[in-house]
This record gives sequence, structure tokens and C-alpha cells, in this order.
Amino acid sequence: MNTPSKHAYVPFVSVDNMMRLVHRIGIERMLCDLAAEIEADFLRWPDFDKTPRVASHSDIGVIELMPTSDGETYGFKYVNGHPSNTKQGLQTVTAFGLLADVATGYPLMLSEMTILTALRTAATSAMAARWLAPEGASVMALIGNGAQAEFQALAFKAVCGIKEVRLYDIDPAATRKCVRNLAGSGLVVTPCRSAEEAILNAQIITTCTADKQFATILTDNMVGSGVHINAVGGDCPGKTELHRDILLRSSIFVEYPPQTRIEGEIQQLASDHPVAELWEVITGRAAGRSSPTQTTLFDSVGFAVEDFSALRYVHRRLKEFGLYQDLDMIADPDDPRDLYGMILRAAKG
Ligand code: NAD
Repeated sequence: MNTPSKHAYVPFVSVDNMMRLVHRIGIERMLCDLAAEIEADFLRWPDFDKTPRVASHSDIGVIELMPTSDGETYGFKYVNGHPSNTKQGLQTVTAFGLLADVATGYPLMLSEMTILTALRTAATSAMAARWLAPEGASVMALIGNGAQAEFQALAFKAVCGIKEVRLYDIDPAATRKCVRNLAGSGLVVTPCRSAEEAILNAQIITTCTADKQFATILTDNMVGSGVHINAVGGDCPGKTELHRDILLRSSIFVEYPPQTRIEGEIQQLASDHPVAELWEVITGRAAGRSSPTQTTLFDSVGFAVEDFSALRYVHRRLKEFGLYQDLDMIADPDDPRDLYGMILRAAKG
């Protein structure tokens, strides 16, 4: 990709600059761009090094590393998931990530990824729904109205043409926040008092809740045939959102089976239960939705390639917007073998 200059400063995209970038590009434009970027990388899926993410679990959360490479560029994300964090005024999910040049191993960019993860997760969900949701879908139920929720709503509006979102959260304050934030978005926003009420007339159901347990946000009798379920919140061993019976009558689509079998809704199923990979649908190797009565499920857990696509998108736009700071992050002695001498000379300076 880029050859690092002799002074190997690494561009750093702070939270502040990421927010500016979102405003300068426009959030719906950015969500559409990211969906296209991610889809383009899913089209060349075999080019990527793939591994289930490396997870370090505790009783109340998880810290994960998500690496991948296309042979030219390497990327990784550090991300956590701590559902009880919000009680202390902290976020459930925070992240940062890095792109590097495979040819030299030098970093190309370090970036905040808490906002970028919300954007890429929503863009991936909406991209998947374009292949899987019933034609003409215009109403989406959004269960779990926390940090990811507005991003999901806006991605489905921008990418899939959703016109109404029906909101439900066990915490009414979260729903009120979501209603407030989506005012003026052009979406019809309907707060609901139960999950059952939220899914009335919805052709798409997004579950985006956080709880470190086998939760049952949707039971089998709540889900009519023909809907598309975008299950975002179940993304960790022991953390799911859907009753197993829903899985048994759904066509299930996943990002990367070796990771999803550990982390996704399908951890509730036998390890050989058939699933289709999203990249196979996009490249025409597997069927997507094949009938209006089919219940489709995108069992989203978030995969490294999506972060890679999102980081590369931000990296490509760095020079255009100039929204970064240079980090003095790579030791850069004049003589590459004289690292110690560089420290000695620094004492004199
Ligand atoms: P958050 O804590 O900000 O919001 C979660 C919301 O879910 C809260 O408002 C909470 O009140 C609500 N909730 C909990 N149990 C509920 C229930 N039974 N019914 C209705 N609402 C309920 O978390 P967030 O950042 O919005 O993330 C949501 C989930 O998505 C988390 O589990 C997170 O790990 C996951 N996530 C997945 C991906 C992915 O790529 N698949 C990416 C980011 C986050």
C-alpha cells in the first residue's frame, strides 16, 4: 500500500476526528460507502487470512483481538464487550484498530474504532439484509435501543429503504434516547411497550441487546414466517438472544462459521447444523432468500474483515479531509541498527 516515510509518523484518527469525518461525509453516505466497501471485500473473501477472534473472557465481559490480512495490508481491532459497564456510566463496547503495510510491517494508521465499529456493524447488517430481507421491506423492529441502535436504524434506511423503526428496550430511557436521536432522520419512529408490539407488521427484526447470558429476546411464537432477523447482540459464548426453535426453522447466514459456531446464536445448535456463508451468497455460490415465506436469519457476530474494510475506507480518506494527528509511535534511528545510539543522542539533545 503506502511506503512509510523516513520519519515514520503514524496517522492517528481520534474520536473527535472520527466524529468530524462522519459529519463531513454525512452518516447515511458513510453507511452506504461502508456497506459497499465491506461487500467488495466479501466478494474477494478467499484473499483474506481468517481466524476466529482471540478472546479473553472474564465473568462479566470479554476482550478480543480481531486480525486479518489480504497479503498487502494487515489490520487488527482491539474490542471489548462488558454488558454491565453502562451501570457505571461506561460503554458496553469500545474499540481501536490499526492498519499496517505487509511489505514492511510498518503501521499505516491507528484509529479509534468505537464509533467505526457501530458504523461497520450497521453497514454489514444492512448489506446482509439487502441479500436476505423480503422484497419491499419497509418496517423494522429494533429491540435493544442502546449504543448501536441508531446506527442500525440509519443503515437500514440508507441501504435498504426502511421507512419505519419500531423500538423496544427493557429500559424505557434507552428508547426515549433513541426516539430523540432519530427525530428529523426521515424515519417514522414508533416507541413500543413490548417486543411483541415492536415486531407487529415488521418485515425485519433487529435484536441488539446486551446481557451476558442465554437471553430469549424472541420466542418462536413471536416470529411469523417470511421475516428477516438481524441478530446482532448474541456475539459471545453463553450470550444469545433467540430461542433455539427459531433457529431450527430459519435459513441461517453467517460471516465466518468457525467464529460464529463459538459466539453466535448457532452455538445453541449441533456443530454440523447447516449454515450458509454471506460471502457465498454475494458471490452466487449459495442461495440467499428463495421464497417470501422463508425465515432468514443473519447471525451477526462481527468479523475482522469488516473492520479491515472500515479501516481501509478511513485510511483512504485521510489526506482528503486531513482529520488526523501524526503519532510519534515508531522508533526511527538514522542507522536502523543503532537503536541504542538513538537513545544516547536523545540525552544530549
Ligand atoms: P448497550 O449496552 O449500549 O445497549 C444494549 C441495550 O439492550 C440496553 O439499552 C439494554 O437496556 C437493552 N436490553 C438488555 N436486555 C434486553 C431485553 N431483554 N429486551 C430489550 N432490551 C434489552 O450495547 P450496544 O453497544 O448497543 O451493543 C448491543 C449488543 O450488540 C451487545 O451485546 C454487543 O456485544 C453487540 N454487538 C455486536 C456487534 C456485531 O458485530 N455483531 C457489534 C457491536 C456490538
